[in-house]
Amino acid sequence: MVGYLYDELFTKHDTGAHIENKDRVISIDESLRGMGLFKLRPQKATIEELEEIHDPRYLEWVKDAYSKGYRHILNEDTVLSPDSYEVALYAAGSGKSAIDAVKAGMIKRAFLNIRPPGHHAERNTGQGFCIFNNIALAARYAQKSGFEKVLIIDFDVHHGNGTQDIFYDDDTVCFFSTHEKENYPYFTGAQEEIGVGKGKGYNINRPYGNYCEDEELLNLYEDLPTWFDPDILLISAGYDLMADESISTARISFDGLRSLVRKILDFASDRPAIFFLEGGYNIESLSKSVYITVEEMLEYGL
Ligand SMILES: [Zn+2]
Repeated sequence: MVGYLYDELFTKHDTGAHIENKDRVISIDESLRGMGLFKLRPQKATIEELEEIHDPRYLEWVKDAYSKGYRHILNEDTVLSPDSYEVALYAAGSGKSAIDAVKAGMIKRAFLNIRPPGHHAERNTGQGFCIFNNIALAARYAQKSGFEKVLIIDFDVHHGNGTQDIFYDDDTVCFFSTHEKENYPYFTGAQEEIGVGKGKGYNINRPYGNYCEDEELLNLYEDLPTWFDPDILLISAGYDLMADESISTARISFDGLRSLVRKILDFASDRPAIFFLEGGYNIESLSKSVYITVEEMLEYGL
């Protein structure tokens, strides 16, 4: 069985005409209907869990930010609406639902159709459409659930600067990211950024140039860290690298995406692999891409 998490509550983070809006998750949900997925129930992240990945001062600020009159975090990229904080707690807690189901022996694969996304949220602040770092919270929860070594793979076209920031000195969470060099957040994601202290060697960036095509991207995945031998894989699944997206110059085809997902699942083998929705803003391309991702997971039959 493949787990799937979605709830109407994720539409309540109201960003108006922003490209990161509720139509994204609604269209994905429609495209996955009838696939026979194992439904996961949403649950909230607790403050204690959030404090493991974010600065308590940021958590304190963001809790009351809307009622104090703030409508954005940092700049207009990241919108706050009346229910954003509450919805963000559910997005951050979504990985827990998948990990609990893995622990219970119900599933080995899951897709989390959630928003706001998370991979740009650093320890001290949300940014880049992200409020909390959903995948980082899941990594810590996985460790408490007995999956000690966590591999995070991030194929969103943008660098997962937030995830890198949170685990930069950590040798129990290995971060592998492919992303477009000349794109947001601009100042992170170089190949030379390999981690510090105990975490040295556990941060792997593989940036690519403009107009990246299938073969170039897939070749970068030859560098997945077989030496790390993770207990669980968490994937920041951002679909803004697809050819029909205007937010980057990458030109990944649907066949290329299928090969990428297969490569990741091959690498996972019989270990759990949980996909978290990050970017992807062309609604048609996004829903088709997620459909392909889930189709590949079902193909595996784990
Ligand atoms: Zn992105």
